[in-house]
Amino acid sequence: MDHVTSLKCLICGAEYRPDEIEYVCPHHGDEGIVDVQYDYALIGRRISPRTLAANPDSTIWRYRPLLPIRPDSPVPPLTVGGTPLYRADRLAAGLGLKHLWVKDEGREPSASFKDRASAIAVVKAQERGAEIITTSSTGNAGAALSALCASVGQKNVIFVPESAPPAKITQLLVYGSTVILVRGTYDDAFELCAQAAKEFGWYNRNTGYNPYMTEGKKTAAYEICEQFTMQVGAGLAPARGRVQEPPLQWDAPDRSDRRHPQRPERPAGPGLEHQDAEDHGCAGGRLGRALRRMAHRHQRDGNEAH
Ligand SMILES: [Zn+2]
Repeated sequence: MDHVTSLKCLICGAEYRPDEIEYVCPHHGDEGIVDVQYDYALIGRRISPRTLAANPDSTIWRYRPLLPIRPDSPVPPLTVGGTPLYRADRLAAGLGLKHLWVKDEGREPSASFKDRASAIAVVKAQERGAEIITTSSTGNAGAALSALCASVGQKNVIFVPESAPPAKITQLLVYGSTVILVRGTYDDAFELCAQAAKEFGWYNRNTGYNPYMTEGKKTAAYEICEQFTMQVGAGLAPARGRVQEPPLQWDAPDRSDRRHPQRPERPAGPGLEHQDAEDHGCAGGRLGRALRRMAHRHQRDGNEAH
């Protein structure tokens, strides 16, 4: 894994070798989230738009040189990634936008974007020879880990607040996970999961703690770059589950620029711009607010219908 140079603490900037720490900066405990640092000059010699164009693999593993895994690590057999982008002209018109595309992450094996992260979790856990992988979840992250683990016969334990939707809990049980229903909130489930992982040496997949999960999620942005032939500017408005996700998707196009130092600083046009519902005073804010209004309207209509 010579392409990963270090794990860098987002608080103090301390850098660690990937084999030196497992999850967080030791100076900052659970708050010390670390960011994976890469040798992009080296990676640029291993992958390029030309090699990508010639690669028939449409899954996230087409970006293997850009992922924090060993070059020879086995990967789960399920088809993760390679999801289509749809033009959504009527939705765009309703929102007052010229162009709008929707990336259909419902095509993932467990039907959510979280499969991208969980695929990396399974590879990292198996690189470390972990007997059990664990996560806390209110639904999709657990289902994703559960599905990916089932595909390779990997034992796993999922901590779920007992208020989680029954359909999601059923999905975990169908995939064969050990499910622990927690009397409490998601945060209680997260804490209990973290304690169990420390106590029993289980591999902890929780996003916002495990530095590698976001590295799987960034593949969605690489795909979008490729689907737009790395040229067309666009806005990115993730339908998000947790607050950590949007910055990470934003990270990938930024990195794809750095990976091609011979190209201009940013692609022609407005550039791939991250937008989310919390931005204000820019196009992203307008898009976010419009989507939020639409979601509220649907929710209200749904409540009235039942
Ligand atoms: Zn630190």
